[in-house]
Amino acid sequence: TLTGKTAVVTGSTSGIGLAYARALAGAGANLVINGMGDADDIERERAGLERDFGVTAVYSPADMLKPAEIAEMVALGERTFGAVDILVNNAGIQFVSPVEDFPVEKWDAIIAINLSSAFHGIRAVVPGMKKRGWGRIINTASAHSLVASPFKSAYVAAKHGIAGLTKTVALELATSGVTCNCISPGYVWTPLVERQIPDTMKARNLSKEQVINDVLLHAQPTKQFVTVEQVAELALFLCSDAASQITGANLSMDGGWTAA
Ligand code: NAD
Repeated sequence: TLTGKTAVVTGSTSGIGLAYARALAGAGANLVINGMGDADDIERERAGLERDFGVTAVYSPADMLKPAEIAEMVALGERTFGAVDILVNNAGIQFVSPVEDFPVEKWDAIIAINLSSAFHGIRAVVPGMKKRGWGRIINTASAHSLVASPFKSAYVAAKHGIAGLTKTVALELATSGVTCNCISPGYVWTPLVERQIPDTMKARNLSKEQVINDVLLHAQPTKQFVTVEQVAELALFLCSDAASQITGANLSMDGGWTAA
């Protein structure tokens, strides 16, 4: 049980992050949720977490492009709940383009949101976690932290980067009771995946069905999408005492993708 603990989950207004938030709340953790979206939708989500799980949830509007706002998101958790015990770095965006046409501002945004934001969050939570002698840092990496696909240069670079950051932080915190791991899903059916289908259709000159079956699920030997709930269950396990010796790991949940 995570009763009495506080979790900050970035990018938790959608997809995998929302599933992390619900799983952590289900185990009793109070929450700082974060992410973009319609204000009414976000308030519905926040209130729903409190109603469904009997925890307290607050919303941080921090933009993962902005280091000062990330520090303030962690400070909000510490002010509201007295501590941040669990940090899930999950916010992420995708952009698909041949490298020679890749817009520079898209490259910069993907590196900032998918990689640097985790560094800024980790920096902010580590002093408190060390002082209390307990903490869990979980980064959503990707199968693309281990292997590449064409037309995703920024995303693959950021995800390989987060795998390296995970290992480094794990080593620095190894004797402090704080673990740092990353989860590497294959294709999970979320808005992020749905949104990249039109660009992939264009970049590879394929139909929607061809992109789903020949590009996305082509990589995944099980021929099934991972579910957001399955990813969230793994994060929950990483928060348990049974997982206290798992640190610096890059845990794949990819239907066999990176085994091939
Ligand atoms: P999603 O688009 O459903 O959710 C992304 C979340 O990040 C949203 O809450 C969004 O508001 C938030 N976000 C985006 N930009 C932000 C910013 N500047 N500041 C704050 N929040 C911001 O996507 P998802 O599929 O749930 O992806 C979540 C994570 O999982 C990402 O890091 C992604 O790379 C990773 N991932 C996804 C898949 C997949 O197949 N869906 C596979 C492997 C890894």
